[in-house]
Amino acid sequence: MKRILKVLLLPLVLCAMNHASAEVEFKLRQLSPHLHVLYGQGGNIAISVGEDGIYLVDDQFAKLSDGIRAQISKLKPEVPEFVINTHHHGDHTGGNENFANAGSHVIAHKNVYRRLKDKHGEGSKFLPVISFGQDMTLHFNGENAKVWHYANAHTDGDAVIFYERANAVHTGDIFFNLNSLPFVDVDSGGSLDGVIASVANILERIDDKTIVIPGHGPVTNKDGLTEYKALLEHSKSIMLAAIEKHQSLEAVVAAQPLAELKLSYANWLPQERVTKLFYRSLMSSEGND
Ligand SMILES: [Zn+2]
Repeated sequence: MKRILKVLLLPLVLCAMNHASAEVEFKLRQLSPHLHVLYGQGGNIAISVGEDGIYLVDDQFAKLSDGIRAQISKLKPEVPEFVINTHHHGDHTGGNENFANAGSHVIAHKNVYRRLKDKHGEGSKFLPVISFGQDMTLHFNGENAKVWHYANAHTDGDAVIFYERANAVHTGDIFFNLNSLPFVDVDSGGSLDGVIASVANILERIDDKTIVIPGHGPVTNKDGLTEYKALLEHSKSIMLAAIEKHQSLEAVVAAQPLAELKLSYANWLPQERVTKLFYRSLMSSEGND
């Protein structure tokens, strides 16, 4: 009986999956001879394609894996050898299981391994098969891609990928290029000061010609990242002044100190939530929490 049900349901499930994939409009852009960016739904994907094969940075949501594979096939009809996760959030790691089943090897910081293990259980295909501490380098496709861990920034497991030959960097969610304030995941070890410090360090490592791939939003350059740093620092000073004046979380939120920046906010990350996260981050970094 169970089996009959499965057989009957399978076409429906596949149909739903195709439908989900079809709803998302992918945009594929070439950034250098081997490096491409794929915009879809969720975190931006970087695709390296060359003689050695393919590797990705991030893989969006599980329902999009077929669509992502179809986009990759336009470049080279092969399964990616590696998928590097910039951090553990589901809009960057949702495809891990599907890509692992297809033969890809997932790489991530050890805190991403721990968080995905807590969520999916030991032995899950969502987990990285290679995890690292501070850094590692992929010598693949004629490129030296340095994967560098920034502690306590967007989360406690952030990795930024510096592509030496392409002169490009994938920042993960340390950089939201949406003319808005970022999600600082303080419940996963993130902090506003850590994001600012990471952005400052990335800026020191790149030059005026570097292609900057943010976690979300369009590809930009050093100027774009510099503007973002200024926005973060400005919002931090506004928050510190509001905390000084109003003290409690409730009073700071009620005062809406970030409203003066006149930024737009996503539905899942309204101004009030950003204010609360920034408050919690700043208070804990000052040892008051
Ligand atoms: Zn994220």
